[in-house]
Amino acid sequence: MGDPSCIFCKIARGEFNTTFVYQDDEVVAFRDLHPQAPTHVLVIPRQHVDSLAATTAEDDVLLGKVLAGVRATAAQLGLVHSGYRTVLNTGAGAGQSVFHLHAHLLAGRTLAWPPG
Ligand code: 5GP
Ligand code: ZN
Repeated sequence: MGDPSCIFCKIARGEFNTTFVYQDDEVVAFRDLHPQAPTHVLVIPRQHVDSLAATTAEDDVLLGKVLAGVRATAAQLGLVHSGYRTVLNTGAGAGQSVFHLHAHLLAGRTLAWPPG
């Protein structure tokens, strides 16, 4: 179901005809509107959940599906050998701005550590 006003729920339902670089029964992946690297893709569950902090043990399978979606998306985009970074911002204090859980997949440039 999800929040009818949630932008990522709308994207997952195909309401904006977003191109999915990867999709399966559980997740969809699409390019970030404001890319922070040459490759910047968001992998989201089709099911609405606000954030990692809002999940419980009942969501552990879904969380695994999100990571599996990142793995599949990276393979689809040919990033397995070059490497990629996966980021989950959890809570406004950590930079989360869209409250539908999403994993950032970043690649295509040198990524500094520690992150900013
Ligand atoms: P957060 O800051 O919550 O970790 O990441 C949210 C991300 O979603 C941001 O990188 C932002 O650019 C992206 N974003 C926000 N709205 C949209 C949208 O409507 N379409 C797409 N493709 N990305 C969006
Ligand atoms: Zn949502």
